[in-house]
Amino acid sequence: MGDLNILAVCTKCGAKCCKLGGSNFSTKERNAIIHAGYPDYTKEISTNHWEFISKKGICPYLNKNNSCGIYEVRPLACKCFPVHPEIKNGKKEYYLSQCPLGKILPKEMISQMKKDISKYPDKIIKERLEKSNISKEDFVLIKKRLKDLKSIKIK
Ligand code: SF4
Ligand code: SF4
Repeated sequence: MGDLNILAVCTKCGAKCCKLGGSNFSTKERNAIIHAGYPDYTKEISTNHWEFISKKGICPYLNKNNSCGIYEVRPLACKCFPVHPEIKNGKKEYYLSQCPLGKILPKEMISQMKKDISKYPDKIIKERLEKSNISKEDFVLIKKRLKDLKSIKIK
């Protein structure tokens, strides 16, 4: 990992990825958050598929100093970002966000994140936009923020 200080990079960025509506995750991941004693800001949007109840697209567990309030039990999709999967034409593909961390992440870390996120259920990838309870107004905010986080396909 060299001298890469992920926390410093992400703090400087201002946690842009936590302001995209929060994450989508499984029942097991949701239960880990609740069993760890955190308040319940989660909603099941279909079987074994949950999302955070965000406000203005900001994850409810994001601290004021832009650190994660549930770090040790944050969902897989959070752990693996800036690597994220998409399904295009029925095929799973992996993308790397060109956020401050994505631009400097070593190849070995990208490969490891890709391997980890490959376990993310296809069902969640397919449904996460279609089933979301995020309001249209908040989606407008999220779309604007996404402009800073353009992604490139990982080969
Ligand atoms: S992973 Fe990227 S978008 Fe998220 S906080 Fe770190 S630098 Fe910012
Ligand atoms: S759970 Fe933590 S890492 Fe994930 S979106 Fe929320 S604040 Fe960010």
